[in-house]
Amino acid sequence: MATIIDGKKVAAEVLSECSEEIAELKSRGITPGLAVVLVGEDPASQVYVNSKVRKCAELGIHSEKIILSKQTTQEEVLETVARLNADPAIHGILVQSPPPPQIDEEAIVRAIDPAKDVDGFHPENVAKLALEDPTGFVPCTPAGCMRLLEAVGVETAGAEAVVVGRSMIVGKPMALLLMARGSDATVTVAHSRTKNLAEVCRRADIIVAAVGIPEFIRADFVKAGATVIDVGINRVEDQSTKRGYRLCGDVAYDEVSEKAGAITPVPGGVGPMTIALLMKNTIKAARAIG
Ligand code: NAD
Repeated sequence: MATIIDGKKVAAEVLSECSEEIAELKSRGITPGLAVVLVGEDPASQVYVNSKVRKCAELGIHSEKIILSKQTTQEEVLETVARLNADPAIHGILVQSPPPPQIDEEAIVRAIDPAKDVDGFHPENVAKLALEDPTGFVPCTPAGCMRLLEAVGVETAGAEAVVVGRSMIVGKPMALLLMARGSDATVTVAHSRTKNLAEVCRRADIIVAAVGIPEFIRADFVKAGATVIDVGINRVEDQSTKRGYRLCGDVAYDEVSEKAGAITPVPGGVGPMTIALLMKNTIKAARAIG
């Protein structure tokens, strides 16, 4: 049976570091501030936004939650971003994804001051990640995955890592982090056009699944003893639960945990790390901006 990688525990460690850093910043008269913008009424997005704002309150980070209706125009979102860029109490800005169809998400991301782009999605921060420039912001989810690997003592140097998924939010930055100097993994990025995916995955000492398909990675994709990081968060209909759905990952947890050496559960794996690293990035922004 695989070791279960406890994301809640590792996230609590990150958050405790955050508390110390916030106390130090406050002693210098700086209170980190995060603005979270939600356009529309996507229920999963509402849950994410509320948990981010709640975490800020727990830590003593100032936060502003801005809810815009689903009819909001591109201009209105850009005006909101411009106001937040100019607000000295706000060090981090994020616009929750996905916005409604009339919103050009890429243009919104480009409008955020890169120094306040705590999601790490602005082209300047993407470039800094590729350049291994530590002054940039690394996207929170892959940064959280790296921290989990570190916490459980997984050797990345020279390891074969397969990242399944090539999104700008998870897959691509994850691959860059794994191959960066200091991590030194040999990285394969698989995606929807990859041939013989199970065979490719079986090479891996480390698999990171960011596909968005429930229980997609099966036991026959996994080499015995491999470390499996499941980024997926999928709502699957389940009438036996009060909400009518349950959360599951991109990995078939029951069968893969019989074969893997270590595995993250869903929920309680990568999810809590994402929020913890968002808090870290907000503190980093506050430290840099002052
Ligand atoms: P996405 O839809 O942007 O990307 C999915 C990727 O999977 C694509 O690159 C695609 O090429 C690949 N893919 C799709 N079908 C495939 C197939 N049949 N074989 C191989 N590859 C295939 O998704 P995303 O934003 O990267 O998110 C992935 C998952 O991670 C989702 O379940 C999402 O909810 C979850 N997620 C979780 C967190 C967290 O905090 N834990 C954060 C972000 C995303």
